[in-house]
Amino acid sequence: MPRLVAPTFYRHSLPCKLPRYYSKSSTVLLPASSPALSPLKNMPSAFPVHNLRPQPAFPPPISMSGSSHIRSMSAATQINNSPPRPASERVAALVVGAGPSGIAVVGNLLELLPPDKVVLWVDPRFQGGRINAHYREVPSNTKVKLFLDYAQAVEPFREIVESTPKPNAITALQDLNPSDTCPLGKAGDMLLTLTSGLSANSRVKISHATVGDAQWVSANSSWNMRIDDENLNTSTSVEAPIVVYCTGSSPTVLPLPVSILRQPNILDLDIALKPSLLKEHIPRDRELCVGVIGASHSAILVLMNLVKLHTDSHPLLKVRWFTRTKNLKYAEDMGDWILYDNTGLKGLAADFAQKHLDGESFSRSHVSGFITRVDCSGGTNQELQAYIQEMPSCDYLVQAVGYTRHPLPRLHQNLRYNHETGGFLEQSTDSPVPGLFGTGIAFPERVVDPHGNVEYSVGFIKFMRYLKKVMPKWVAGVNNS
Ligand SMILES: Cc1cc2nc3c(=O)[nH]c(=O)nc-3n(C[C@H](O)[C@H](O)[C@H](O)COP(=O)(O)OP(=O)(O)OC[C@H]3O[C@@H](n4cnc5c(N)ncnc54)[C@H](O)[C@@H]3O)c2cc1C
Repeated sequence: MPRLVAPTFYRHSLPCKLPRYYSKSSTVLLPASSPALSPLKNMPSAFPVHNLRPQPAFPPPISMSGSSHIRSMSAATQINNSPPRPASERVAALVVGAGPSGIAVVGNLLELLPPDKVVLWVDPRFQGGRINAHYREVPSNTKVKLFLDYAQAVEPFREIVESTPKPNAITALQDLNPSDTCPLGKAGDMLLTLTSGLSANSRVKISHATVGDAQWVSANSSWNMRIDDENLNTSTSVEAPIVVYCTGSSPTVLPLPVSILRQPNILDLDIALKPSLLKEHIPRDRELCVGVIGASHSAILVLMNLVKLHTDSHPLLKVRWFTRTKNLKYAEDMGDWILYDNTGLKGLAADFAQKHLDGESFSRSHVSGFITRVDCSGGTNQELQAYIQEMPSCDYLVQAVGYTRHPLPRLHQNLRYNHETGGFLEQSTDSPVPGLFGTGIAFPERVVDPHGNVEYSVGFIKFMRYLKKVMPKWVAGVNNS
């Protein structure tokens, strides 16, 4: 069954490389108890085409609440009449998620909190997040040096690197050219080493579980968080004055306009990014066509994979590439800063795009023998017409159109994320929410480059630099006695 989901509640989609439609703060709308993503059948039948691609328009408020959106933190506890669940324990901080951003948060907290304070770290898997789950075969878009910088950025990491028997995942990275990129599996191994080192730290408590619910208890100046262990089928409550969401994002899947007469099967972007899975998913014994929507890093990686597939094992494969632009955007080294650092193509994807896909090089490349470039420029109507005309010939469709936040623990108020402080604001009053923070691909820093371009900073070292800037204020701002 293909993954067909529509972001009914969850319209805040974060493109990994092109988050240009974020502003200083962004809102999150989450359902009370239903999953954040609704099945396609629940979408209005005449879903307008402009919803097919992420739009520069601002998404609706983040509601971390159920049906009743409340107006203030104090009102939160009044409207949510249920008394807070008795907490089984109190910790200095709770970190939700163990991907690259969660690992960085735990490392920084250990540095910043007094030595007698304990951090609770919750994730159902503790496997380095989506890098290890899905992207190990993806070539990195950052240089090896930046992964090594991440591994050396805080004292608790340095201690782990020092004490891990060699050779290890970090020495494997050190053996590479620091200016080269590498398969993300190498960075994923480093994450596993850091995770196991942090887990062994006596100040870190690990819980293989999911954080399911959050409630502010003003009397204790703390969050009361429900932690669900699906394996044991148990729920416990923990109290923490600092809670950090490092919950990550998954590829956005948007409903296709109904006017497309023959709807292709949706091919999960995660599969299309993994050559060993992709080749098993696409039959090789007959002519078929894969459509790819998008022109940013993930789309180019998918096109690279499809070209390799065509060359190696699937000579009958055809591709339709739906792109709004013929001229692709690249990251550019400007000496002491990088232009389009977060939105431009880098590494192998940039090399491939320049040679085979960009502008006029496309028609000169052999790939134009089996890839058709479908012009989606000119606005939503033109894009719709292009889809109506060309999509029925596609058997599969890969949407590389951004990344959508994973569902957040249920909360009882509308919040807005502040992309400069890492904190949240209460939606209607704009007052800061105490003790609650976010980081990682779901909650990135907003940066403005010397040319005035606004981008959202996503990547291991960027999460780390952001945390170094904002986290001392988070810790200083709460009473952690
Ligand atoms: C295709 C692709 C290539 C990339 N390449 C690079 C690169 O080369 N270099 C680079 O620096 N960055 C790269 N990135 C960007 C970024 O580093 C990754 O997206 C990274 O996975 C983001 O880390 P994260 O910790 O924010 O989220 P994730 O890796 O998604 O981790 C989130 C974690 O939170 C857990 N979680 C979620 N909800 C809950 C809950 N309620 N309770 C408990 N746990 C929960 C999940 O189980 C998961 O383990 C790439 C991204 C993509 C998509």
